[in-house]
Amino acid sequence: MIVGILKEIKVLENRVAMTPAGVEVMVHNKHTVLVENNAGVGSGFTNEEYVAAGATIVETPAEVYAKSDMVMHVKEPQPQEYDMIRKDQIVFTYLHLAADEPQTKALMKAGSINIAYETIQKADGSLPLLTPMSEVAGRMATIQGAMHLAMPAGGRGVLLGGVPGVEPATVIVIGGGIVGINAAKMACGLGAKVYMLDTNLDRLRYLSDVMPANCIPVMSSKPKLRELMAEADLVIGAVLIPGAKAPKLITRDMLSVMKKGSVLVDVAIDQGGCFETSKATTHAEPTYEVDGIVHYCVANMPGAYAKTSTLALTNATLPYAVQIANKGWKKACQENKEIALGLNVVHGKVTFEAVAEAFGLDY
Ligand code: NAD
Repeated sequence: MIVGILKEIKVLENRVAMTPAGVEVMVHNKHTVLVENNAGVGSGFTNEEYVAAGATIVETPAEVYAKSDMVMHVKEPQPQEYDMIRKDQIVFTYLHLAADEPQTKALMKAGSINIAYETIQKADGSLPLLTPMSEVAGRMATIQGAMHLAMPAGGRGVLLGGVPGVEPATVIVIGGGIVGINAAKMACGLGAKVYMLDTNLDRLRYLSDVMPANCIPVMSSKPKLRELMAEADLVIGAVLIPGAKAPKLITRDMLSVMKKGSVLVDVAIDQGGCFETSKATTHAEPTYEVDGIVHYCVANMPGAYAKTSTLALTNATLPYAVQIANKGWKKACQENKEIALGLNVVHGKVTFEAVAEAFGLDY
């Protein structure tokens, strides 16, 4: 199969869909890999490294689309690419179609086979191609929170881990899933006193088993949150109710019990945010203040650490890409249910229920 790696064109997106190491694996599996000129530079990979791994560099996205059996992106195809997608071509990338009718219609019109990273699902319900980005965002949430607690950044001037003789900061992590556990690991490692709140008792038991002694897993409830807000220096919002908007767990009136210069990091902002006062921000201007509390609400956090994010993402996507390339999409889907769940639009028909429902289309 000919596999095409496109350069990301969405604003401030520096990741790339395959590393030179991934190219080597594809070539070893007897596939041809075309890489668009400078596709890897944002993540620190040069054309020369791709060529050394066995890829051929092509100049334009049009050429990648024209020559490839399967194209890979990180972000969804952009409108200027819609007409380049060919009938029967496999498009393997994040698509997020349920919130994007024009793209859904464009992919239907193209007649391509569209496999979305975000709907590939394991038997236990986990989403293996979303997990790596939650890991990055979780770890990053603590770093950003710690930085914004510094006075020049508008914070209250508290060092997360304290120092000998001075007590550490208190960090509240709401949601003990992938983002939450990664945020808490970093905060615990820095020496903070960390409360982790979740509504899932089994998850709290697990957290209690695996987390260090400076992490206190607690059942999440409004009164408990209100009580902890008064103590918090940093609050990280990391809840998810699959398929729904994030619940507003911290209301504006709760900010009044917090210490001025405390920091809220709302990682769940991509699902609407779990603080009433959250609004999406960008890396260019990541924070704003409400009632003396610093808010950090960047919707695309992993983009700031493109190299780590690229490596984490491609570690997860490559095994699926190899299966699709080796077997062809039909056999790969027949033999691996996880990949079949990634099919969103096939030969003009929506094949993913939530997408069809979103736009009243046949499914
Ligand atoms: P996850 O499913 O692994 O974890 C979510 C956790 O929230 C679960 O353990 C669940 O029990 C818990 N929860 C649900 N309702 C709760 C409540 N009322 N109180 C406390 N806990 C509650 O999800 P995840 O992968 O950790 O993702 C968390 C959020 O981060 C999602 O909204 C995701 O979209 C977002 N995210 C954002 C970025 C970004 O760049 N901003 C990047 C990655 C993920």
